Amino acid sequence: MADRAVDRELAAAVRRMALREAAAHLGAAVETTGARVRRVPCPRCGAAVTDSASGGPAVRGPVLDQPLWGGEATRHSTVLVRVLACEEVTARSLLPAFRRGSEAGAQFQTRAVTAAELMHERGSALDFAEWVHLVDIAEARGSVRSPEFGVVRLLPTSSRAGPWAVGRGPGAVPESSFLFPHAVPGSSTMQSHYRDVLLRRVRQRMERSGRTSA
Ligand SMILES: [Zn+2]
Repeated sequence: MADRAVDRELAAAVRRMALREAAAHLGAAVETTGARVRRVPCPRCGAAVTDSASGGPAVRGPVLDQPLWGGEATRHSTVLVRVLACEEVTARSLLPAFRRGSEAGAQFQTRAVTAAELMHERGSALDFAEWVHLVDIAEARGSVRSPEFGVVRLLPTSSRAGPWAVGRGPGAVPESSFLFPHAVPGSSTMQSHYRDVLLRRVRQRMERSGRTSA
């Protein structure tokens, strides 16, 4: 019985996280000059260690303030997004950052960065359910305060392993994961739950807007 209550709470937290990502996807597009991206080290695979010898576009040194898209204008974008060095992000997942990009000095980080920081703080004792709950609580607050960066807003983004991580042996997720770009034991049921909630919500909203515009 106790286990079922734990499962229900975990499923509820995963659902809230999926609905946040859905809301981010469904918001109106905005004009943007793009974002600068700051890659932060991954505690699991070691990405961000300078490794230019292996070649390839996904090799990540500790690149700072790299333009994510566009050219010179992007280099001066006021939007700074911290991403995990081994993860890939999509333009859509960054929409909330672009919407608030007019705020000078706006800083954001992906969910994988939030998860990585919690992993770093809590160490190996952190299990999947507790990890999800801590990320959910942080996202509900909307931001974290870091001594180095001040207030950093949290982006409710799924994560996908970049080519750097995929080529680094087992452990990189083959497709998108709602928490972290590396395999998390015991997470497969909740990965499916997340995808179901996210896709259902996006489909519902698109069908509804199709009906209103017809
Ligand atoms: Zn990694």
